[in-house]
Amino acid sequence: MNYNSSDPEAQRDELSGLYNRVYVSERLHSDIEDCIREKLPLSIIIADIDYFRVINDNCGHTAGDQVIKHFSQLLRTVVNGRQGWTARYGGEEFLACLPGVALAEALALAEELRQCLEHSIVMYRDIEIKLTASFGLAAIGAEANRRDDLIALALNRLTEAKEQGRNQVSG
Ligand code: GH3
Ligand code: MG
Ligand code: MG
Repeated sequence: MNYNSSDPEAQRDELSGLYNRVYVSERLHSDIEDCIREKLPLSIIIADIDYFRVINDNCGHTAGDQVIKHFSQLLRTVVNGRQGWTARYGGEEFLACLPGVALAEALALAEELRQCLEHSIVMYRDIEIKLTASFGLAAIGAEANRRDDLIALALNRLTEAKEQGRNQVSG
């Protein structure tokens, strides 16, 4: 891919170590253009931790921060090995961009991530924190071939996943 950043550290989120939202705007646009030109697929996954406010309320903000780090690490591990990148899109919301990956493969990846998360435990002091997340996916194609359309589509699907009970993948 052709994206070239002059100051990569300014584009990292401090807590998670993932890219930040500014990076998403610039890089996603560039990757979509590259993939369209090269006739390659591109999928995005937007993930949002379920009932995160409850984790903060019950276990404290520092525990919440640790959950964000845990999720970020897992996202990175699952996406690594493929050509792609991961970002913290908002408070407890994350985005993975997968150039060259079609929707079916991205759905399988998100499902793998969902299951890993469901079976993992975050230890904070002597508290065992269990968590789940919901996932919305979109791929470039007739429905969406621009950055904002793709994000809007994935967010709509994330809303569906939340409305259908959370802890699920929609795409
Ligand atoms: P849902 O299942 O619908 O996603 O509900 P939710 O509770 O996860 O979502 P909601 O948007 O109501 O709450 C998100 C919370 O995330 C609110 C905010 O205080 C918290 N938050 C945002 N950024 C951070 C952060 O950096 N650290 C911590 N600990 N909490 C954060
Ligand atoms: Mg949430
Ligand atoms: Mg949220």
